Order: sequence, then C-alpha cells, then structure tokens
Amino acid sequence: MAVQSLYRRYRPRRFDELKGQEHVVRALQNAVINHREGQAYLFSGPRGTGKTSTARILAKVLNCEEPENGEPCGICNSCGAIDSGNSYDVLELDAASNNGVENMRDLIERSSLGNPGRHRVFILDEVHMLSKPAEAALLKTLEEPPPHVVFVLATTDPQKVSETIRSRTQHLQFHLLPMHDLDEHVRWVIKDANLKVSEAAIAQVLTQGGGSARDTLSALELVAAGGGEADEQLSPDEFVEAIIDRDPGRALGATAAAIQRGADPRMLAEEIVRQLRECFLSLMAPDLVQLPEQRKTLVAEQARRMGASTVVRAIEVLGEILIEMRHAPDARLLIEVALVKLTSVNNANDNSSLIARIERLEAGITRDASAPMVRPAPINAATGKVQLGGKATVAVAAPSVGPLSDEQLVSQWSDVVSGFKALARAVFSAVSAVSCVDGVLTVSAPNDAHQRKAQEHVAAVEAQLSSITGRKITVAFNAPTARPSAAAPARAKAPVATDEQIAEAVFEDVDPSQLTSAPTTKSTTTTSVEDQLAKAFPGSKLVDKPKKK
Ligand SMILES: [Zn+2]
Repeated sequence: MAVQSLYRRYRPRRFDELKGQEHVVRALQNAVINHREGQAYLFSGPRGTGKTSTARILAKVLNCEEPENGEPCGICNSCGAIDSGNSYDVLELDAASNNGVENMRDLIERSSLGNPGRHRVFILDEVHMLSKPAEAALLKTLEEPPPHVVFVLATTDPQKVSETIRSRTQHLQFHLLPMHDLDEHVRWVIKDANLKVSEAAIAQVLTQGGGSARDTLSALELVAAGGGEADEQLSPDEFVEAIIDRDPGRALGATAAAIQRGADPRMLAEEIVRQLRECFLSLMAPDLVQLPEQRKTLVAEQARRMGASTVVRAIEVLGEILIEMRHAPDARLLIEVALVKLTSVNNANDNSSLIARIERLEAGITRDASAPMVRPAPINAATGKVQLGGKATVAVAAPSVGPLSDEQLVSQWSDVVSGFKALARAVFSAVSAVSCVDGVLTVSAPNDAHQRKAQEHVAAVEAQLSSITGRKITVAFNAPTARPSAAAPARAKAPVATDEQIAEAVFEDVDPSQLTSAPTTKSTTTTSVEDQLAKAFPGSKLVDKPKKK
C-alpha cells in the first residue's frame, strides 16, 4: 500500500481541526445547528487553506447519523464513506479541466437526481475557470437549486467570478494561516508522525509553505523523506547577499554549486523571488512578513542593506525570467544572465537600475571602490517603515554625536565634507579648513579657479554646515594656497578641476581628493560633459542640453 501523503493524513476532518479559519467555521456551524444551511456557497482564498476540506466537512455533518454541536461524528457509515472518498453524496469537479458547458449540464442533471433524506454537496473547484456558457448554465441552477443540494464553489481568485454568481452565493473568505499557528501545527505533525526534522529544516518548511497548510505539509514531507535536514542548495541567502554586495562572481558560484547539488534553475529562481518578496514586505509592511522569528530578523536586515529600489528591481528581473523559463531550452543560462544583471548594476540601463545608481550616488562616493556600497533605505522614524519616494538624505560621517563645535568643524573637516551633496563634495574635498572662529569658517582652495568653483557652492555648503552644527556658519576664503605666479610660468599650468573632471569624479567613483593633482590627459580635456555622462550611463540619450554660460 502506498504511503499516504502527510497532507491527506492530516487533512482536517472536523470543523475544530480547521486551522486559522474560525470565522468560516462559526458561520457554517451556526447554520448547520439551526438547520439554515445555504444552498450555494462561494469559498475563496489562497490555495491550501482548507476550502475543499471544509466543503467535505460540511457534507459530512449534513449527512451524519449522529451529528453533535455542528460537528460530524466521524464514525458512522456516511462519515466513513465521505472520508474515504466513496460517497455518492459528495461530488467534486475541477472547473479548471471541466470548464465546458457539457460538463456543467452533466453536473446539473446529476444534481436533479435527489436521494431522499440526504444532502448532496457539489464541490466545484476553481470556479473562475468556467467558460461563459458553462457559467450561464450553472447560474440557472443556482437560481432554483433542487432541494437538498448544496453547491460549494471554490476559487483562489474571487475577482474573476462573475458578479451574478457572487450575488447568488454566500461568500466565505479563507485566509493564509498565521505563522505561529502553522509552526505549532508542523511541530504537532512531526511528533504525531514520529518524524525526525531539524530546527533549520522546520524554518525552511514554514518559509516554503508561505502560510498554506497544504504547501507546508508537502514541503515537510519532502524534507522528512530527505533525512530531515534543511536543504542547503535551496537557501536563497547566498544569492541575496551577492546582490547586496554586487558580486557577480559570488552569484554565479552559488548558482553553479546549487545546480551541481541537483537544484532546478526554475525552483531556484522561485526561491530567490520568494525571499526578495519577504524583503520587500519587511520594508513596506513588516506586519505582513510570514516567517519564523529568526528568519524575520535576518530578512529585515538584508532588506535594509539592499534598499527598496534594488529589491523591486530584483523581483522584476527574476519575475521576467520565470516567465521566459517556460519556453527556454536552457533555464540555467537565463538565471545566470539575470543574476549578472542584478549584481553588476553599472551595466544596466533600465529605469529602476538607474534609480538604484542615483540612490547610490546620492549616498556618497565610497572612498574604497572595491568595498560594497551599503546604503540603508530611508526609514520613517514615526512608523519604522521605509519611505517611498523620499529623497535619500546623507548622514554626515562625523564620529561625534550632536552638534559640532568650531574646533571639531576644522579637525573633522574631511568627514564633514564627505557628507556634502555629490558636486559640492567633489569640489570641497580639495578645499582645506584653516580655522573656525565664532561661526566664521575660514577655508583655503588650492588655486583661484578652484576657489571660484567652490564659491558657487558656498550657499549650499553654509546651509548644510548650519544644519549639522545647529548654528549659523559663514564660509570665508583665504588666499589660495598655490597661487600661480608670473615668476613661475610652469606653475601657471597648475591643474584646475574642470567641469568635465568633476562630472567624471561624480560619475565614476574616483576619489575626488585626487582631482587637483590628477594629470590633465588629452582625453579628458577633449571630452565634453555630455560624453562623460554618456560614458557613465551607457545607452542614455541627451534630451536637453543646457546653454553654456
Ligand atoms: Zn457521522
């Protein structure tokens, strides 16, 4: 005899065994106790939440020889026949594969053949898949159903069920199970079935189940059959970390390792998308994250490091390849290309990747180009959730907390500058702070041209300095440190940061402090700002060119 699947073995057989659907149970039990059961129900909810199990329990209690408080006895002939699937009183039809009008006429014909004294329950699964003529035929029957017939229409997509059908049925909504209930249930099943399953594997099973009792038990069955240990090849953490670190090598290595251990590329992509979705939820609506506590913390941390736009882009890119994979001969290649796309953002040109890049630019040019750029998404202090559309503000990397004193402004000048907006930062990184007395900060630029450049940004810089010190700061320029003199004509060619160089510094993650000493090569002097931008954003088009002053 074949081993009964865990889901069948532990499928609920009484109303009080149904998990997480108390509102549905209450409505049905009250109706049964008062002999006021409806003739047509619409059960809607995600897959694996107990819709057909509930319909069977309803059939059982309506036909039970000794029902008790709205529960079937579970031992009489009728209950036994329904439990074993041999009852004439329950008829299940999957509308997804029997969606024609002929199927419906056949069903209606059978429903008219009454069995005196008994209730016949017709379960029509995925009712939103019915063809229009089949739906019309069903509708006619729903208007005047034969006595003692109960129709239970089940659907995962109630929006697709026509309004007329919905209006002729009692609509009961099934919900995904709270993680806590499912966790309890899984542990109970493990104990009852005498399975050996590690803690890590339980966490994985709950994650894969995503709140559906059936999917969770199916996942548990697979894990138990494989020895009860967590399936490491399917852990999406390594992939998410690779996306955070923008490390294509790491992503490809993880793919190769997973596939070598027998992972299917499609399942792998689904796993990663599932985790990214949890990341997305933990940024936008932390209450909706359905994960065991330990995973929840880890995923929230990953999400913060990734930032909302990167998460969304990753979901989009992987979602697209999941569709393509249905027809692609080499699914592995698709997932590899997608991962490289996601890990090397500088090569992508779609809108979301540009937004991700701009966010990173705003967050600051990192001094160490090889270090991963970690930029937490902006958090709304009031709600603790990520702000959408909010402009990323760059915190000043000052080591001390609280407003800076005059002395600190000078001693921590380079940290202060690193908190400026991109252009101001590029220019001011070559400007040194000389002194600060009574809110007047004296600075010194390397030469006249650089000073003029810096003066263009003085207003913005003063505003920022005032905001970090909590008082008004005025910037005054000392005479440039390296004033070119007529006596030394060679010095007259002292390198000056041109617009082009600054633009290049901003867009190419070059350490801006090297700007003034960088040799002015032929290519930079002959390259326009537009060319530099085009280089930084391959494939971009110049839409509007500002007039030269
Ligand atoms: Zn019974």
